[in-house]
Amino acid sequence: MIIAIDGTSAAGKGTLAANLVKKLDFAYLDTGALFRAVGQILIKENQKPEDKEKAIKAAESLSPENILSLQKDPSIRTEECGSAASKVAAIPEVRQILLKFQRRFALQPVKEDGTPAAGAILDGRDIGTVVCPDAQMKVFLTASAEVRAQRRLKELQEKGICAIYDEILKKVKERDARDTNRETAPLKPAADALFLDTSSMTADDVFAIVLREMKGKGLI
Ligand code: C5P
Repeated sequence: MIIAIDGTSAAGKGTLAANLVKKLDFAYLDTGALFRAVGQILIKENQKPEDKEKAIKAAESLSPENILSLQKDPSIRTEECGSAASKVAAIPEVRQILLKFQRRFALQPVKEDGTPAAGAILDGRDIGTVVCPDAQMKVFLTASAEVRAQRRLKELQEKGICAIYDEILKKVKERDARDTNRETAPLKPAADALFLDTSSMTADDVFAIVLREMKGKGLI
């Protein structure tokens, strides 16, 4: 079984995925980590994330064997990497390279301990529309930009990282605009996705609704 979770940044995709992993013992891929890793390589090399040739090279340098450990790396979680990620994500060739990693994972899901899983959960921006259009369960999460910026601020503060709300809000809006307006695989809900605005929902509310929907579909 494949569960596709898409949506805007800081809409609760990772939290929903973590809850589903706990419940179903599926393998999980945070696909944003792949784009962040490419963005981080360019930052470290002092290159512009818009530099197509350099970005393609960086994507090619990622090892498919290491994709699960990538998502555990805290150094890719900065706003700087998120911003660079959304720039490299607009380059079709980069998306094509990373698409192969994502599809391979979805078809042969492997858990962190290396054992095969009965299903895969992928979160990102185009999982339900492009990466896994045949996923049995598709969820699209969003929330107001203000609520998402507040959540991001809390997350950073809990990690002891100093951040300013207005700057986060500006970055959230910029990233939304870039992800929604790019030509290749733009951020948009699949026609058959369960669409949830989580602005006034808790993580538990979202999890309960998704489980109810999955039960209704006979998936669990
Ligand atoms: O989800 P996360 O914030 O880690 O994603 C970083 C960026 O990577 C997003 O803003 C988006 O531009 C890009 N991305 C994408 N397609 C995906 C996952 C992430 O374009 N499937």
